[in-house]
Amino acid sequence: MKCRWSFLAAALLLTVLLSFPVAADSADVIIVGAGGAGLAAAIEAADQGVSVVVLEKMPMAGGNTLYATGGMNAAGTSSQETLGIEDSPAVHYKDTMQGGHDLNVPELVEIMTEQAPVAVEWLKGLGADLADVGRLGGSSVNRTHRPTGGQPVGPHLVQVMFEAAQTRGVDVRLENEVIEILLDDNGAAHGVVVENREGTYTITAKAIVVTTGGFGANPTMFVEYDPELEGFGTTNAPSATGDGITMLTALGADLIHMDQIQTHPTVHPGRSTMITEAVRGNGAIMVNRDGARFVNEMGTRDVVSGAILDQDGQSAYLFFDDAVRGSLAAVENYRRQGIVTEADTLEELANALGVDAAALTGAVEEYNAAVAAGSDDAFGRSDLPRSLDEAPFYAIEIGPAVHHTMGGVVINERTEVQSANGSIPGLFAAGEVTGGIHGGNRLGGNALADIIVFGRIAGQQAAQY
Ligand SMILES: Cc1cc2nc3c(=O)[nH]c(=O)nc-3n(C[C@H](O)[C@H](O)[C@H](O)COP(=O)(O)OP(=O)(O)OC[C@H]3O[C@@H](n4cnc5c(N)ncnc54)[C@H](O)[C@@H]3O)c2cc1C
Repeated sequence: MKCRWSFLAAALLLTVLLSFPVAADSADVIIVGAGGAGLAAAIEAADQGVSVVVLEKMPMAGGNTLYATGGMNAAGTSSQETLGIEDSPAVHYKDTMQGGHDLNVPELVEIMTEQAPVAVEWLKGLGADLADVGRLGGSSVNRTHRPTGGQPVGPHLVQVMFEAAQTRGVDVRLENEVIEILLDDNGAAHGVVVENREGTYTITAKAIVVTTGGFGANPTMFVEYDPELEGFGTTNAPSATGDGITMLTALGADLIHMDQIQTHPTVHPGRSTMITEAVRGNGAIMVNRDGARFVNEMGTRDVVSGAILDQDGQSAYLFFDDAVRGSLAAVENYRRQGIVTEADTLEELANALGVDAAALTGAVEEYNAAVAAGSDDAFGRSDLPRSLDEAPFYAIEIGPAVHHTMGGVVINERTEVQSANGSIPGLFAAGEVTGGIHGGNRLGGNALADIIVFGRIAGQQAAQY
C-alpha cells in the first residue's frame, strides 16, 4: 500500500514538473530586456549558432520600441532610392551631430549612420515594411522610414523581430525580471538573478547583453539628474525605469550625459499621448492661445519644447488640415482617443478652441502664402510640404513631456560596457540604456537607428565572446 502511494506521489510530481517546465539555468548568451535592441541582439546571436535566453520583466515584449510611431532614420536605403531621395550617411552624421549640439560621441555616431541603411535592409529581410519615407525635426533630408501609409513603426518592428527570434528558437521569458547582474571572481560576466511569480532563480551565461531601455518613466531618477523636470509627465512605457543603469553602475560601469534628458514638444497634456513629429513633418503647424504661430515647427525638440513653455498656459495647439490627416494613419488613433478638435471652417475651429478666429485665419493664410512662395520668412521653416487649406480642419492641444534619456552607460564601438578599468569582460549593452550617441538632443527617428544598429552589434559580439 505504502509503495502504491509513493508511486502516485512521484507520478503527480512528474506531471506538475512537466506542466511547469523548469527554467534552464544556463545559456551561452543572456539578453536582459525584450525591446527593440534586445530582440535585434537575440536574432543576431541566434544566427551565430549560440543558445540565447531573453529575460523580459513585462507581460509582453516591446518596451518603448512598441510606442515608436514616426519612423527610423537611415540614409542611402533602397526605399529612398525608389522615391528618388538623395542622401548619404555623411549628411545623416552631420545632422545628428548638429542636432546633438556636438556633444555626441563621434565614433558611435559614425557607426550608427554608416550601419543604419544596412539595418533597414536587414529588417526588410526579416519581413519588415519600411517603404514610406518622411522627415522628422532636425533632419535636412527625408530619411525617416516607416510602413506604407505612415503606419506606426514600433509595433510593426517588434512583431517582425519577435517572430524572427521565435523562429530561431530563442527562449524569450516574459514576466522574468532581472534584479542583479553577477560577475565572477575575475570580474567577468557570470549570470543574472531573476525574479518571477514563483520566486527567484539564477541563470548563468558566458556573455550578457543589457538592453533594458532608458529611465524616462522613473520621475525620481530623471528629477535627480535634471531638477527642472519636477512635475513633468512622460511619453514612456512604464517599463523605462532605468534598471539596467542601476544594475550596471553597481558593477562599476561608467555613465555619460545623465543630465541630458529630452522633452518631446507635442504631448497631449491630459492623456499623455505623444503626437508623432510626423504630423508636423507632413505639414502641421503650431499656434498659441492667441492663434499665432511662434516657432519653426520642425526645429529640434529642445528648441520647440522651450518655445511652447514660453507661451501662455505652457501649451499650444497643433493645427492641420484633412490632407495631413489623410497622409498619416497615426492621426486616426488620436481621433479615436478623442483628443482632436475638428471643424468644417477655420472660424468654427477657432471658436471651439477659444482662440481669436481672425488671428488663426491670418496665421494659416500667412503660412499658406509661405508654402506658395517656398520660403517661411517668419520662422525659417525649410520644409513646407503642403498648404493647409483642405477642410475639415483639426487641432490637438500639446505641451512638452519627458521623452528620451540620452545619457546612460558608456559603451565602446563593440558595445562592451566600460568601467574605470576598461571593458567589463562579457558584458555588453545597447539601446537607450547606453549614453553618448545622441549628445544633448536626439533627433526624431535616430533612436530606432541606434537600437537596431547597436543591438545587432551587441548580439554578434556576445555570441563571439
Ligand atoms: C511614445 C514614443 C514614441 C517614439 N517614437 C520614436 C520614433 O518614431 N522613432 C525613433 O527613432 N524613436 C522613437 N522613440 C524612442 C524609441 O522608441 C526608444 O528610444 C527605443 O525604442 C528604446 O529601445 P530599447 O530597446 O533600448 O528599449 P525598450 O524598447 O524600452 O526595451 C527595453 C525592454 O527592457 C525591459 N526591461 C527593463 N528592465 C528590465 C529588467 N530589470 N529585467 C528584464 N527586462 C527589463 C523592458 O520591459 C523593455 O521591454 C519613441 C519613444 C516613445 C516613448
